[in-house]
Amino acid sequence: MNDVILAAENLTKEFKGFVAVDGVNLKIRRGQIHALIGPNGAGKTTCFNLLTKFLRPTKGTITYAGKDITSLEPADIARLGLVRSFQISAVFPHLTAAENVRIALQRKRGASFDFWRSQKVVSEYDDAAHSLLDEVGLSEFAATEASELSYGRKRALEIATTLALDPEMLLLDEPMAGMAQADIERISALIKRISANRTILMVEHNLSVVASLSNTITVLARGKVLAEGDYAIVSKDPRVVEAYIGS
Ligand code: ADP
Repeated sequence: MNDVILAAENLTKEFKGFVAVDGVNLKIRRGQIHALIGPNGAGKTTCFNLLTKFLRPTKGTITYAGKDITSLEPADIARLGLVRSFQISAVFPHLTAAENVRIALQRKRGASFDFWRSQKVVSEYDDAAHSLLDEVGLSEFAATEASELSYGRKRALEIATTLALDPEMLLLDEPMAGMAQADIERISALIKRISANRTILMVEHNLSVVASLSNTITVLARGKVLAEGDYAIVSKDPRVVEAYIGS
């Protein structure tokens, strides 16, 4: 399917007169891995925060699955299926991997947080928690405390807690930040796997990851879209080369 799931039109954010995101038009197609790249200060994080509703745009509209979501809150869009993946800080360090996923599943159902450890809840969510851990390659770490997992595995656990919300589209903020090569390969494979039935938009600095994973890349520079297309196209674009060299 090639229809647009998330669209931004004339997206603009000013901070006290400084235009960090300047009239950006974006179309993310269903089923794609779409990357947002650009040199430091290009406006990627601001754009990401606008799309995930952590910031309000000065101008412009955002549409998700045909609905205008410009004035919605992050929790509202999560209910619509558009979920932002948080950093590792979202994982409870002293709970096991399975417990972390169980809590996320329970939250999705709106169950009370207090009873997460009751035997009834454990058995109710156990199968679902284990299948999510399996999906992110952590089945053998189900009983391991999150704090004991490697950085990359913590990130995989955090992705599992995000998947517990059953998103149709995932927004990933620098999924490879701070990772060693082995973890990069593991998380790349995971992103590829979860993209089989979900749309993904990621901000990512690691260009070889972007090249190997993305179907479409939007390059931002100074708050504007500089180029868009697949890696072969954008990486040869002289404006993109100049923006990176000049940064
Ligand atoms: P990137 O993620 O591409 O490095 P950012 O979106 O973080 O870029 O920042 C884009 C520009 O907006 C930068 O010049 C930055 O200093 C500025 N900026 C970002 N957030 C704020 C803010 N809260 N107040 C003022 N300026 C900001």
